[in-house]
Amino acid sequence: MSDFIKDGLARNYLAGAWVEGDDGASIAVEDPGNQQHVADCAKAGEATLAKALDAARASFDRGDLADLNPSARGRLMIRIAQEIRAIAPEGAQLLCRESGKALSAAHDEFEEAAQYFEYYGGVADKIEGKSIPLGPDYVDYTVFEPYGVSAQIVPWNFPVSIAARSLAPSMAAGNATIVKSPELDPIALALLGTALERAEVPAGAVSILNGIGADLGARLAASSEVDQIVFTGSVATGQHILRSAADNVVPSLMELGGKSAAVAFEDADLETLISSLKSGIFYNAGQVCSAMARVLVHRSIYDQAVERAAELANGLRVGHGLDEPEHTPLVSAQQLERVEALTSTARQDGARVAAGGARLDRAGYFMAPTILADVDPASRVAQEEIFGPVTCFTPFDTEAEAIAMANGTEFGLVAGIFTRDLTRAHRVARKLRAGQVFVNEWFAGGISTPFGGVGKSGFGREKGLEALYNYVRTKNIAISLKG
Ligand code: NAD
Repeated sequence: MSDFIKDGLARNYLAGAWVEGDDGASIAVEDPGNQQHVADCAKAGEATLAKALDAARASFDRGDLADLNPSARGRLMIRIAQEIRAIAPEGAQLLCRESGKALSAAHDEFEEAAQYFEYYGGVADKIEGKSIPLGPDYVDYTVFEPYGVSAQIVPWNFPVSIAARSLAPSMAAGNATIVKSPELDPIALALLGTALERAEVPAGAVSILNGIGADLGARLAASSEVDQIVFTGSVATGQHILRSAADNVVPSLMELGGKSAAVAFEDADLETLISSLKSGIFYNAGQVCSAMARVLVHRSIYDQAVERAAELANGLRVGHGLDEPEHTPLVSAQQLERVEALTSTARQDGARVAAGGARLDRAGYFMAPTILADVDPASRVAQEEIFGPVTCFTPFDTEAEAIAMANGTEFGLVAGIFTRDLTRAHRVARKLRAGQVFVNEWFAGGISTPFGGVGKSGFGREKGLEALYNYVRTKNIAISLKG
């Protein structure tokens, strides 16, 4: 058995060993479904980070991953996938309790994490350069090289699968990686270190550190020992990290927030729209960057759509994640406070509350599933990311109006189109300002489909082959044959 947790303390995975935090410091982790203590997590600070950076640099300089035969690197990653599946039952329980999500959703995160390692393991030996014709006197070709030490900062909404989403391509490319877990739910991600340990990942090639964002996260992002920064989280933190990246002139990948809109035309299938809404805004209590945060509906079917959405919201079974409910709590008291406060501005701004609108009166941090109707597209609830189970309905009359509204925020992560007219679907998809467009199914796609933002939703792409090229840089080698 792994030493990952000892005396109720989940530890940091550093250079192949399990270590405590700086000066024995720890973070108390709470179950948002019942406000009970789950466990403590060892808190890494400056000293632990320095050790992880040294270990990562040494591992990279030794060529632990980069100089491994690429197909052997791929096999190592497939083995990690197998080990992730082996720890999934234990991990899902921990993740369910620390994050509040449903047990099946927690299990899905581990499964998805395993799939990322399989997918990128399969391409580790296919990161091919090209040859460039320069005439008979030259041979010219490109090779892809890893950056070196990749710093990866992970949010709390999908800590395990998002960590795997970045770690797997980073390893496939041959980087050494330091992952900073989110302080609200770090335990299941720390457990992932067990899968790395059992798969015999070279010591130092990956470390997983638990710590506070403003301390450990900021130090990691500002370190001159880091060669690349991958950040998934809020816009404000992303901007902070980008300032550090600018100081060190380090490439970065930013996966930030969203305020994504579904556009339902008059010929949309209402059943399809409502079932997409169920996962689109209520999965993980709406704490999803690509949530269906706005629903723009053609006026001819608008009232019916709002009524069906309200019925859905009012009928969701609420409960603790272990009881496999349809609606789970928000991750923290602070998050509930924020979601409720922002939702309450909707009424003052002229919106109608068709369902929910406030917290639920029960233990845990539950916000009622909320449908806001007749939302002014310029109002705060239509413009700011709520990151909770709250969506905003607004009617439209013309295609052009719908596109303008969908594109009318500072974000651009995903968008959706609901119509039976495929010509219109293609036409509108091209005009929507988003990194990914779903047609007739919110969250269509998977680990192999590129994902990322436009505008303040960030830049760079995760998932799919596309993502791999965020983790390498191109070197050109030009050889004269003249001599
Ligand atoms: P957050 O920005 O508060 O925190 C994200 C991570 O950054 C955490 O690990 C945190 O500890 C760390 N952090 C906080 N302050 C830091 C600092 N000053 N320097 C370095 N690191 C710091 O975000 P969150 O509340 O954890 O997550 C919610 C946000 O993440 C939402 O805006 C959501 O849309 C976004 N998100 C985006 C994606 C995507 O793929 N685009 C996926 C999930 C979440």
